[in-house]
Amino acid sequence: LLEARGVRKSFGTTEVLKSVDLLVEPGKLVFLIGPSGSGKSTLLRCCNRLEEPDGGSIIMDNVDLLSPRTDINAARRQIGMVFQSFNLYPHLTVQKNITLALRKVVGMSTADANARAAEMLALVGLPDKAASYPAQLSGGQQQRIGIARSLALNPKIILMDEPTSALDPELVGSVLAVVKDLRDRGITMVIASHEMNFAREAADKVVFLDGGLVIEHGSAENIFLRPQEERTRRFLAQIR
Ligand code: ATP
Ligand code: MG
Repeated sequence: LLEARGVRKSFGTTEVLKSVDLLVEPGKLVFLIGPSGSGKSTLLRCCNRLEEPDGGSIIMDNVDLLSPRTDINAARRQIGMVFQSFNLYPHLTVQKNITLALRKVVGMSTADANARAAEMLALVGLPDKAASYPAQLSGGQQQRIGIARSLALNPKIILMDEPTSALDPELVGSVLAVVKDLRDRGITMVIASHEMNFAREAADKVVFLDGGLVIEHGSAENIFLRPQEERTRRFLAQIR
């Protein structure tokens, strides 16, 4: 579904991604793990060109996202993004937050968009919050709204950057439960996260980044129980 090859990105003289490959198969949940500064966020941002890579290729369903001939706005519509800080509009209700892009970008009627929003809110377990404002919700609820909003556009893939790291520990579980439910529904996701226990339990594939390179990738079981590389072992030992 998504295939990045040899992706490079520097900021000034700092080479953040040296040559990164990432293969995401349809319906899979892929975790990006690695130390702070290893390039996880940069890689996710390159995948929807919030960041412009310096080289390499990123192909989604046979469309080269880096080609100048590609309509990047059309491609972006297929790529959902969920941020650490939720990025909801504070002055809009939950319903408006979800329906805004449906109406403006997809051109859905208000009635259809509202129906779609209701469906998405049910999916993330918040069917009664349509009229609430973000500030009236807990962080965990706000993040589930963020997920509902990106899901509403029916993307081919959802990229999540640390979706739970801004949350109090007791709220993390509700967001992870939604992620798990989406996984069971066959939604393709790539998640950069420090939630190792969750990665271990739910990931179809784990990719360990360090120093701008993929050091190792494989099943959760192989990465967590049988890491092959010394650097992976050291990283996992450190955070346990
Ligand atoms: P964390 O686990 O802390 O979120 P990360 O793996 O997501 O880390 P990135 O945010 O991708 O790491 O950052 C990788 C490196 O790139 C860091 O050294 C960071 O300072 C640098 N960097 C990221 N964005 C920019 C930018 N816009 N301008 C300059 N440097 C940047
Ligand atoms: Mg990051």
